[in-house]
Amino acid sequence: MNGSDSRSRLFNIEPEGMNTPYIESLTSYINRLANRHTVLVGTIVKKILTQELDKTYLKNIAIKGGDGFYKSSNAINGVGQMANDFVSVMERLTTRNDLENTTLLSLAEVFPTRGLSRNKKAWCPDCLEEMKLQGEIYEPLIWSIQAVKVCPRHKVNLIEQCPFCKTNPYFLDRSSNPGYCSKCLNWLGESNQNKLLEGEQVNQSLDTVILIRDLLNWVIRDEVILLKRENCISSLNWAVHNFFRGSTSAAANTLGFSNTTFRYWLNGINRPTINAILDICIILGLSMEEFFLKRGKMTELFYGRENNIVKMNKKQLNYQEIGGFLSLIINNGYNISIKEIAQIVGCDRKLLSKVFPEQCQAIISHNKEHIANKKNSRFLDISGKIEQTFFSLIQENQYPSYRKIEAIMGERVLQEKEIRNRYIELKKVIDEFNNLLT
Ligand SMILES: [Zn+2]
Ligand SMILES: [Zn+2]
Repeated sequence: MNGSDSRSRLFNIEPEGMNTPYIESLTSYINRLANRHTVLVGTIVKKILTQELDKTYLKNIAIKGGDGFYKSSNAINGVGQMANDFVSVMERLTTRNDLENTTLLSLAEVFPTRGLSRNKKAWCPDCLEEMKLQGEIYEPLIWSIQAVKVCPRHKVNLIEQCPFCKTNPYFLDRSSNPGYCSKCLNWLGESNQNKLLEGEQVNQSLDTVILIRDLLNWVIRDEVILLKRENCISSLNWAVHNFFRGSTSAAANTLGFSNTTFRYWLNGINRPTINAILDICIILGLSMEEFFLKRGKMTELFYGRENNIVKMNKKQLNYQEIGGFLSLIINNGYNISIKEIAQIVGCDRKLLSKVFPEQCQAIISHNKEHIANKKNSRFLDISGKIEQTFFSLIQENQYPSYRKIEAIMGERVLQEKEIRNRYIELKKVIDEFNNLLT
């Protein structure tokens, strides 16, 4: 099929970024379609509205006139009735059948509208500039999701305000164009308005964006038969079971929600927002796909061994077992010092280096690299303290649980992602060691 299809009353053009998480949004598609017909968006919109005028809400908007329709044009990319109606009328007019993916409709059942889509357009100037060079300028759907604050490719904040006229352009406007301000008509792709983000700020926002990008990728790839309301409920229950030994209050506490809120979600009385699910996935180290398919590693991440004080030195490993343990550390790329390993296996550090010179050398150089990569002195400082606490607990034959570390070092000390990752890594080494003992 192509633009000359006789039944099609609008050209049948393909959305940009098809089958990728950067698929074009429906408003951008309507915009480009207007361009292709060399008419203003206003003209196309009139055509769409006349096709759909039996819809009361559209009639009301049309009767009111003015900016009403354009102001609410964000909803065209969203999860509600408006997105539904626009998909079906645009499919009819273009004779396409794949425009649903240019909206967030595939997420409609699983996430409430609240916190999902943006009211005003947002864009990455660097992406726009690149598209201009490549020839086709469009606005990806991912930019219409509220939680997407940064561009994962350029690591800059998305912009919502036109730098020239200081207005926040709508998704659609009478004379809008992808990549241009619909009020002052200036090109929005000028770079250097936006400085590169650094450190923790970008990491947190990037983690979120990457989760969303991968969610869209999955949803588009598998055409979402799975994302039903029940999936979310059963995934939450699964998470409580697998990460928190079935304790709802432990899960609610660790994940940072009130018990009541959390119970309502588990029972399906309320639906968690996309932001809540994002937070949960980040803390549990899951992708959204893993969360919804219940495929995360079934480790009892935080509360597993709370009451089980492991006697770290109850048994000495023999040399062969220690050698196996060292290989395991090397093969997994764990960042742990020889001194710490010596503490875990209960063996003198010098002896360790003497008996296993090659393996110790490999571990030392791996560590040097790791430290060089973590130039951030604040991170080194905090993680150093975590390590100290971690190993002093082991020396006291206590299992260095999440809760104990926080009890000693202060609540929330493990909430920062990098620090928590460091803790999780140390904990993995301990768990591997415990497996050898049993
Ligand atoms: Zn970008
Ligand atoms: Zn402007």
